[in-house]
Amino acid sequence: MSLSFDPDTIPLPVGHFIGGKLISAEGGIEMRRPSDGKAYTACPVAGLGMVDRAVESAKAALKASNWGGVRPRERTRALHAWADLIEAEAETLARIEALCSTRPVGQVIAGDIAVTAEQIRFFAEFADKEGSELVPTDDASLGMIISEPYGVVGAITPWNFPISMAGWKLGPALAAGNAIVLKPSEMTPFSSVYMAQLAVRAGLPAGLINVVLGDGPTTGTALTGHPEIAKVSFTGSTRAGSAIMENVARTGVKPMTLELGGKSPQIVFADADLDKAATAIAGSVTFNAGQACVAGTRLIAEKGVAERLTTAIITQMKAVRCGPTWDEATHYSPIISDLQRTRVDGIVRAAVEGGGECLTGGDAMDAPGYFYEPTLITNVDQANPAIVEEIFGPVLTVQTFETEEEALALSTHPTYGLASGLFTSDLSRTIRLARKLEAGTVWVNRYSRSRDHILPTGGYKRSGIGKDLGREAYLANRRTKSVLISL
Ligand code: NAD
Repeated sequence: MSLSFDPDTIPLPVGHFIGGKLISAEGGIEMRRPSDGKAYTACPVAGLGMVDRAVESAKAALKASNWGGVRPRERTRALHAWADLIEAEAETLARIEALCSTRPVGQVIAGDIAVTAEQIRFFAEFADKEGSELVPTDDASLGMIISEPYGVVGAITPWNFPISMAGWKLGPALAAGNAIVLKPSEMTPFSSVYMAQLAVRAGLPAGLINVVLGDGPTTGTALTGHPEIAKVSFTGSTRAGSAIMENVARTGVKPMTLELGGKSPQIVFADADLDKAATAIAGSVTFNAGQACVAGTRLIAEKGVAERLTTAIITQMKAVRCGPTWDEATHYSPIISDLQRTRVDGIVRAAVEGGGECLTGGDAMDAPGYFYEPTLITNVDQANPAIVEEIFGPVLTVQTFETEEEALALSTHPTYGLASGLFTSDLSRTIRLARKLEAGTVWVNRYSRSRDHILPTGGYKRSGIGKDLGREAYLANRRTKSVLISL
C-alpha cells in the first residue's frame, strides 16, 4: 500500500492539549507547508493563563494517579501500551508530521516513529530497575539514597525532528514518574499533540502529558519561568538556550537539560575506507537537508585523498531528488521555511564573499517549496562564516590537513562541541583522537545516531548541558535525597 497522501485532506489536531482534552484556539502564527509553501493553518499561542492551566492539570494528574508513587512496573506497562499504539497509528501520525515538517513520510514511518516507539520502551524499562539504594554506614546507622521524580517537567522542542524530539523528552520524564508540559516548536506542533492524544487512548492518566502551543518569547518564557515547573528540558538553538537560562535564573533556580546547536567536523584520514566515508558524509549533510543538530558539516580531509573524497561526495549530492514530503518516493527534504532558506543562502553568499568557492550547489532549487541545493564549499579559513555559523541547511565545507595535530586544530570549534566524525583504519589513532576531540559524541567510521539510544547524547561547550537518551537521561529526570538514620 502506498504511503503517499493528499495533504489537503489531513485533519490536524489544532489546539492545546490539557487534561486529556484538545482545547481549540483561533488565530495565531501563520503556518506554511515547507514542501509547497502553501498556508494551511495557524499555530495558537498560549499565554500565561493557558500555561498555568496546563501546569495545574499536570499537578492534578500526578496527585490523582499517584504516577510517581505507583509500583514502577505499572509505569512500564502503560508506556509500553503507548509505544504500541504509536506504532499502530504510525500512518496517521506520519501524515501529520510529513504535512507540517520537512520529514518525508516514508522516513517518518520507518525511522522517526519506529525509533521513538523503541526509545519509549527503552526508558519504560528503567522504571523498576533504577531507584533508591542503601549505602554502607557503621552498624549504628542506616544510610539511604532515596530517588524521587521531580514533579512537573517543562519541555521545549525544536522543529527539525518533531516526533523524535518529543519522544526524547516524554519517554524518560514519564518513566521516571513525572508529569510533563511540552511546548513543541510553533512550526511543527501537531504531531506532539497527536502523540499526547494517543497516550490518553493507551491508558496513561489524562493530564500527565499536556501540550501547549506557541512561540518561544510568549509560551516558552511562561513555561520555563513557571514556579511549579520543577525541571526544564530544552532542545533547540544555543541562542534560545541562553535566553532560557537567563529566564530561569531570573524567576527561580531549577535544574536544566539543554541540548543545543552544533557545527560538527568529520575528519577523514587517507587510510580510511573512502567510499564508506563519502557515503556517510554526504548522507549526513543531505539527510533532512542538513537540518540536524549533529549534521557533520565540516569535512576535514587528509590532503592526498581530499579530491577523491570530494568528487565522490559531490556525485552523491547531485543525485538527491527533491519532492513533497507527502510523496513516499521523496528522500530529500525542503528547508523548514522561506526565512530559514534565505538565511542559509545568506551564509553561503557570505562564505563566497569571504573567499570560499562553491564546488556544487549554492542556490535555491527550482522547485515548489523551500528546497536548497546540497552545497560544498572549499577555500574556507577558520574565520569564514561557513565554518563558524551553524547553518542548519545542506551545506558542507572542506578543509585539508597534513598532520594529526593540524586535523585536531581545524576540527575544534570555538563554541560548539556536539558531535565529531572520524574515519580511519588505525585503532591507536582512533582511541587517541576520540579522547582529544571536544565533542559529546564521536562516531568512528560511521556517522549516524540511528537506534543507539543506549548511548547518552549531548554537547560539550556551548552545545549543551546534560544528556538526552541513555541511562543518564532517565536519571536526569529524578532527584536524590540522602537519609541517615541513627539506629
Ligand atoms: P530554536 O531555538 O529557535 O527553537 C527551539 C524551541 O525553543 C522552539 O520550540 C521555540 O519556540 C523555543 N524557544 C525559542 N526561544 C525561546 C525562549 N526564549 N524561551 C523558551 N523557548 C524558546 O531552534 P529551532 O530553530 O527550532 O531548532 C534548530 C536548533 O535546534 C539548532 O540550533 C539545532 O542544533 C538545535 N537542535 C539541537 C539538538 C540536540 O540534541 N543538541 C537536536 C535538535 C535540534
